[in-house]
Amino acid sequence: MSDNELLNAARDPEVHACTIGDVEHDYRPHIVVAAYGPGRPRTYLRCVWCHAVACGNYGETDPCIEPWHHEPKPHRTRSGVSWPIGGNRAEEG
Ligand SMILES: [Zn+2]
Ligand SMILES: [Zn+2]
Repeated sequence: MSDNELLNAARDPEVHACTIGDVEHDYRPHIVVAAYGPGRPRTYLRCVWCHAVACGNYGETDPCIEPWHHEPKPHRTRSGVSWPIGGNRAEEG
């Protein structure tokens, strides 16, 4: 697997190590052409350091910035909104 296709999740040690000291992942849009076989290119939010993919989707407004499969940690966004796993994000007025 090439580095370009590396999509790490919360359980990966380098993902955990990336945020020691309360550093946030540095997510950037990252295009993977065929991560799961032939198909349309997909844009992920991927950390430039540890290759963690954000739980939230690229293009989403204020997406969850925890890495994939961060359960049981609640979802959390850069603006500080959080909500439980399996729960609905509260609509903001
Ligand atoms: Zn990272
Ligand atoms: Zn999340």
